[in-house]
Amino acid sequence: MKTRQIIIVSLLIMVSCNSDRERKQAAREKEPAINVEVPPFNADSAYHFVRQQVTFGPRIPNTKAHQEAGNFFVETLKRYGAQITIQEFQQENFDGLVLNLKNIVASFNPDKTKRILLAAHWDTRPFSDKDKQKPSEPFPGANDGASGVGVLLEVARVLANNKLPEVGVDIIFFDGEDWGEREGQQRSHPLPDGLQEWWCLGSQHWGRNKHKPNYSAFYGILLDMVGAKNAQFHREGYSMQFAPSIVKKVWDHAHRLGYSHAFVRQTQTGVTDDHLFVNTLARIPMINIVHFEPGIGYFGDFHHSQRDNMDIISSETLGIVGTTVLNVIYYER
Ligand SMILES: [Zn+2]
Repeated sequence: MKTRQIIIVSLLIMVSCNSDRERKQAAREKEPAINVEVPPFNADSAYHFVRQQVTFGPRIPNTKAHQEAGNFFVETLKRYGAQITIQEFQQENFDGLVLNLKNIVASFNPDKTKRILLAAHWDTRPFSDKDKQKPSEPFPGANDGASGVGVLLEVARVLANNKLPEVGVDIIFFDGEDWGEREGQQRSHPLPDGLQEWWCLGSQHWGRNKHKPNYSAFYGILLDMVGAKNAQFHREGYSMQFAPSIVKKVWDHAHRLGYSHAFVRQTQTGVTDDHLFVNTLARIPMINIVHFEPGIGYFGDFHHSQRDNMDIISSETLGIVGTTVLNVIYYER
């Protein structure tokens, strides 16, 4: 009788030990192996940075609003203690117009050799060619352009006010991403030597002429259209082709943080965006976090239309993306 009781008790202990071990194991799988204090991302501040850009007016190359916004980024990033490199260049567009363009690079922890590159484009497309009523008019570009830059300005503000991550961080605002041919337009003007697309002029220029000779980064993350209400981000095709482990890393962090509704583990086709030229010309593996809407496709129905204004911007989405990016860079050893 006694012996039997002892056996049952020890069995119970074994069972409870086992389930305890399983629980700990499950917790370990959810959490990365190291425990890191990640400073908070302020979504309201990111929203403010988006609105501020829209207030300048569409940031169309060769306009006053473009000039003013560019100056504002440089001043703000300098104030946040970043080392700034400005890359000015001219590029003819598909209409033969010479665009005065400016890539802005802000480096934190400039002496660290292991670096993470974060990027967004800061220019606005000069016409809303998907808009049925006003296809020739400019549009605010709240999501297309300003949202990615807004998130990265807030990342810069967080870096300025907290202990820096263990890796170096370079933030690049690419110019001239969005002056590609009009919707449905045939390519009339042949591409000049060295240019692969009329889109992504800033990243193509940077990919061939990096701001520092021999510059490289461990990997890069591009943000494009990361501010819409209830936005979803699917695994973009070129990101999966060139940097699948970085996609996994970023999506894993997002899921651990509770953002599985936004970072969906489904793979879609590739999109021509700045990350493509960072991958192919600069040879730095870079992923793209870019709006994808089930039933509509990439970018959503407000894309390149008058509807791309502050009404569609959500601080919650900006917070989801910004918090994920901050976790990725602070967990990096
Ligand atoms: Zn665009």
